[in-house]
Amino acid sequence: MTKRIGIHLGTAGGASKAVERAQEIGANTFQIFSSSPRMWHAPKVDHKQAERMRELRAAFDVGPLVIHTSYLVNVCSQSNEVREKSVHAFRGEIERALALGAEYLVLHPGSWKGLTRDEGLKLAADSINRAIDGLPWQGTGFHILIENTAGAEFSLGGSFEQVAELVARLRAAAPVGVCLDTCHTHVAGYDMVTADGYEETMRQAGATVGFDSVRVWHCNDAKAERGSKLDRHEHIGQGTMGVEPFRRLLNDARFAHCAFIAETPLDEDGDDERNVRVLKSLVPSS
Ligand SMILES: [Zn+2]
Ligand SMILES: [Zn+2]
Repeated sequence: MTKRIGIHLGTAGGASKAVERAQEIGANTFQIFSSSPRMWHAPKVDHKQAERMRELRAAFDVGPLVIHTSYLVNVCSQSNEVREKSVHAFRGEIERALALGAEYLVLHPGSWKGLTRDEGLKLAADSINRAIDGLPWQGTGFHILIENTAGAEFSLGGSFEQVAELVARLRAAAPVGVCLDTCHTHVAGYDMVTADGYEETMRQAGATVGFDSVRVWHCNDAKAERGSKLDRHEHIGQGTMGVEPFRRLLNDARFAHCAFIAETPLDEDGDDERNVRVLKSLVPSS
């Protein structure tokens, strides 16, 4: 099996264009938004686009397709209104992911400001269970991936334990897995950088979320220091993490089944291609 390495791509010109872009820059997996990440309203998926996307992915062997949920969705908001809008919007995200044939839909667990963490956890699980209720995901391979966060105050998912707790509270049959983000892990305080620290961090990941549940690693270097709780992504190898954690991760047999996707800044033309190239250069065979 070839290592799956890619990046978050824009969808200007239609979602299928992102497959062509992935192929052009040497990526064999990628992530997109299926609607504007800062607007509640989302148009329905164009079936011609979805069909074209399936054809191109098959032709170029590009996958898995990962969709990132809109930033507005907060499934554990203290506000009933925001929470209801979020459940509705997240259901739309799942519907669009299924229509596009996406394998994974990444979700940040949200902010429980105004509540206790336990109340937030309960609301998040309840909202996700409601959002997927009755949708035809069976047999598609589709999974919702709960992403660990940078650990900012009131944000759910700032530790592996919290991600594991949420996963455990979802309906037993729910198609759920985990997305871990290198930058979030680092700024949340875990040691990804030293060799011993990396091993200890992965031991903790294995003991909480479990290795098999992790389907996607977001590969981002960090602008901020370890433990800062500041979520600012940096180009691979140019931040406070450096290139070595990515080499370890990409060659870690416990994550051989994962897709590795950068969400690095686009400061200059070609930055996406460069970050993919750097990640690929860390794997001897790719
Ligand atoms: Zn991420
Ligand atoms: Zn981030």
